[in-house]
Amino acid sequence: MQFGGIEAGGTKFVCGIGTEGGEILDRFVTPTTEPDETLERVIHFFKRSGEKDSLLGIGLATFGPIDLNPKSETYGYITSTPKKRWQNFNIKGELERALDFEIPFDTDVNGAVLAEHLWGGAKDIMNAVYITVGTGIGGGVMVNGELVHGLLHPEMGHMRLRGSSSSTDFKGICPFHEYCLEGLASGPAIEARWGQPAVELEPTHPAWTTEAEYLAEGIVNIILLLSPERIILGGGVMQQEFLFPMIRDKVQHLLNDYIHKPVILEYIDRYIIPPKLGNQAGLLGAIALAVKQKRI
Ligand code: ADP
Ligand code: ZN
Repeated sequence: MQFGGIEAGGTKFVCGIGTEGGEILDRFVTPTTEPDETLERVIHFFKRSGEKDSLLGIGLATFGPIDLNPKSETYGYITSTPKKRWQNFNIKGELERALDFEIPFDTDVNGAVLAEHLWGGAKDIMNAVYITVGTGIGGGVMVNGELVHGLLHPEMGHMRLRGSSSSTDFKGICPFHEYCLEGLASGPAIEARWGQPAVELEPTHPAWTTEAEYLAEGIVNIILLLSPERIILGGGVMQQEFLFPMIRDKVQHLLNDYIHKPVILEYIDRYIIPPKLGNQAGLLGAIALAVKQKRI
């Protein structure tokens, strides 16, 4: 049994074919340009040599914000993205028309938390959060085994932080908010603040202490609000593995023993973890949505 997946990102689209067990069999990457042009390349991948005929479904995990309300007139649309050409674009509808499937879709980060639940670091639990720290910051939420949508979908990247003690004059780069997590701690925020791309900053650079403080503050809010059993941190910035112990320490410090659970007090390295699926979490997220659709 094979499933297709489309991970729609702001810089690239990753398409692939995978198994119900989460093994990727084929993969295709194409840059995000104009919507029509990009989708044409995606559609061609699935249509070539009858590949599509062997699929049980195709899932779509996309950047947002997206309209996930089936009752809404713009259900299936990418809505208010800063990417002008993609604003109010019916991505689900266009793909369904061309590929002749009902395509389950969700945010990229909800896809990622589902994939980690099916095949990765959240297999044994029903309540988890996946946070990506990259060009933006986004969080996918699973509660009692279900992906959380609601009024829109969680937008935890824009939660307001008190701000680190060392950084009150930097208000962040988010065009909507001052002192929001994404505006303060995304990859581009690090670069704007310190004048160098994040990947070039030495591990001893003070930027990382500040970064860990911001992320820890955001994570503490998430822990207190949603009570997840595990938090998975992915995205380009989290490639800096030394951030994990720094964040864990600061989370413990901020919680100050209030949450009396061994997984926070003693084994926090099992609580705040990198994605088990590594950089495949995005594509597997899309495939996971297709797998879930068939299981229901
Ligand atoms: P996207 O968010 O576009 O899907 P990424 O998760 O790779 O893609 O995030 C890209 C951002 O992450 C860039 O701002 C870049 O500066 C930062 N980044 C990418 N790789 C690294 C790295 N190894 N270390 C630190 N920052 C990184
Ligand atoms: Zn914001």
